Amino acid sequence: MNKFTSYTTVASMNQWIRVWKNSFVIATALGVLILAIAIIGLNDLSSNAQSAGKTQLQWYGQSAFKLTTPEGNVLLIDPWIENPINPDGKTIIATLNKVDLILVTHGHFDHAGNAVEIAKKTKAKLVSTYDLGQAMVHHSGYPKDLVGFETQGNFGGEVTLLNGEVKVAYIPAVHSSSVASDGSPANFAGNPGGFLISVKNGPVIYHTGDTDLFSDMKLIPQFRKVNLMLTCIGGQFTMGPLRAAEAVKLVNPSTVVPMHYGVFNLPGTPAAFSQALQRQGVKSQMKVMKVGEVLKL
Ligand SMILES: [Zn+2]
Repeated sequence: MNKFTSYTTVASMNQWIRVWKNSFVIATALGVLILAIAIIGLNDLSSNAQSAGKTQLQWYGQSAFKLTTPEGNVLLIDPWIENPINPDGKTIIATLNKVDLILVTHGHFDHAGNAVEIAKKTKAKLVSTYDLGQAMVHHSGYPKDLVGFETQGNFGGEVTLLNGEVKVAYIPAVHSSSVASDGSPANFAGNPGGFLISVKNGPVIYHTGDTDLFSDMKLIPQFRKVNLMLTCIGGQFTMGPLRAAEAVKLVNPSTVVPMHYGVFNLPGTPAAFSQALQRQGVKSQMKVMKVGEVLKL
């Protein structure tokens, strides 16, 4: 073996050791990365699996819903529970003992509904615009101590509630709003709205309140994907099936539930809404709820 040969042999051996070391480092790093991705993936799956179906939404007719979160918080939205298409209204109110928040979109009686009596019983705080909150305290008797800064807001804003489990964003609506108590003239109650409700480990729900179609609805999913849209379809006082179908197209939720029909002889029906969705090529799935039915989300 000459000097040259021995030098090249040693050099190539060193090179092999370096290559082997580098490969070992790369393989180890890859292994750690794959393991990390797997763990994150498993966690993701398990948290989805754990939370899936733990949010429950019950319809009481008109625009009234009960939302129960994975942590067991209870929210009522537009709680006109004693409405003409809900035969169990009285019993439901009598047995509603835990309510954390009451969300009211505007002051009309078919939305504010039974909010005051339920609040008095359960101490549920009012989530509404500031103006509607004031109107409900002064003209409807909503307990003043349950209408505080924490749960009041206005359009463009969002409140974080229930130790961060629920966020409620204030969405405008094209409608009107006033509060009237038996026979007295209607009182100013601010501008009407809807709510975008985001539940931690749960769905994002858009409740339209009473509204016409408006093109700014398309901005909603730019900020947060909507899983479920609860839309008025009755017509006459709000958008009807055709315009509601166009609204669904703009919001693009995974699922849409029609509401605010079947009362006061409103002309809009789920059948007409279904046809309009199909005709207008809307991809969202429609779910017609029965009064009292519970959806697991
Ligand atoms: Zn209404």
